[in-house]
Amino acid sequence: MAATRPSEGAALLAEARAAFRREFGSEPALAVSAPGRVNLIGEHTDYNAGLVLPMALELWTVLVGMPRSDGHISLLTTSEHADEPKRVEFSVPTAEKPLEPGLPRWANYMKGVIQHYPAAGPLPGFNAVVTSSVPLGGGLSSSASLEVATYTFLQQLCPDSGAAISRAMVCQQAEHSFAGVPCGIMDQLISLFGQKDHALLIDCRSLEIHPVPLSDPGIAVLITNSNVKHSLGSSQYPIRRQQCESAAKALGKKSLRDVDMKDLEIGKELLTNLEYLRARHVVSEIQRTSEAAAALSSSNYLVFGRLMVESHNSLRDDFEVSCPELDQLVMLALSVPGVYGSRMTGGGFGGCTVTLLEADVATRVMQHIQEQYKGTATFYLSKAADGAKVQPL
Ligand code: ADP
Ligand code: MG
Repeated sequence: MAATRPSEGAALLAEARAAFRREFGSEPALAVSAPGRVNLIGEHTDYNAGLVLPMALELWTVLVGMPRSDGHISLLTTSEHADEPKRVEFSVPTAEKPLEPGLPRWANYMKGVIQHYPAAGPLPGFNAVVTSSVPLGGGLSSSASLEVATYTFLQQLCPDSGAAISRAMVCQQAEHSFAGVPCGIMDQLISLFGQKDHALLIDCRSLEIHPVPLSDPGIAVLITNSNVKHSLGSSQYPIRRQQCESAAKALGKKSLRDVDMKDLEIGKELLTNLEYLRARHVVSEIQRTSEAAAALSSSNYLVFGRLMVESHNSLRDDFEVSCPELDQLVMLALSVPGVYGSRMTGGGFGGCTVTLLEADVATRVMQHIQEQYKGTATFYLSKAADGAKVQPL
């Protein structure tokens, strides 16, 4: 029982090239990659203009392709999508004929980016193959990595206009309007701007990014996929967003970022009990994320680990987005000596946990989880990786 070593980027690229040759009968001319991510701490804070601390993973979405001159776009994914076709074809959008979301659903993430792409000139058609080592729907943000890979690919066909940071917003907009997911900005930012050997402290209000070193060879980040995804997640996410917004509004603030614990206690009467609990998670989580970034900067892993556990408990009890499987995975990880902290990561209701631990206990932790977890867990041990890149062919 070994951790699934993240696929080497080179192998992924070779797979995409081979699929392109099979599908389109020629070598691709362009290749890009964009990573998935894990959020170390700062959960459900991004859409509250708060702080997050993710790192990019050695798991990637790779896109290879070739421009074509007839104004058509043909996309193929190598991933399985239940009953959906893997190939789709449509025309480059125009002012008269914009793209709209439709079927297959997986292509909407790409269509959305193409539609919103701020091209500095005419965008040509193209053929492209997408392949990924980020688990789809596992909470490691395959969706943002697909959007960012698409954006980075389009930049090779026609430069974009606007600031670098607005790339993340275009990708976020694509997910909102084409995939119907009202996500925050974290996933797109980290997939674009991730830095090898660093986590990024991202201020989702100012969009300032501070790299925090994470390269100690004695420390590892273990991601454990619960391999469950409760359907509640997609319906509860917009409800949580709405509860946070109404809590901020009731307190007379623009967002929960502008609220501290004192404001919250003073304004408690203005909130419903649920709004109060949701706000207490967000306000305390923003504080924890700030403290965690400082702890990581000074290699204080004990403090970092304690903050991770507090984050998990707050997500479980106040924000109510955990589930028995995630709670069990956290408990099992914490029972092994050498583990500093563990918590659910991502939206919740399934997906993954993230654990900070001494590198030499990783095998023991995985073994223990595999023996005791009531489901089937899969593992990823990943260093902090760089963001999106153009890959030489
Ligand atoms: P997560 O981002 O946590 O992986 P989401 O539900 O947000 O989960 O996004 C997963 C969806 O993104 C998939 O169901 C699919 O529609 C799309 N997607 C991601 N990666 C790919 C890919 N390589 N090929 C096709 N679709 C993909
Ligand atoms: Mg996603």
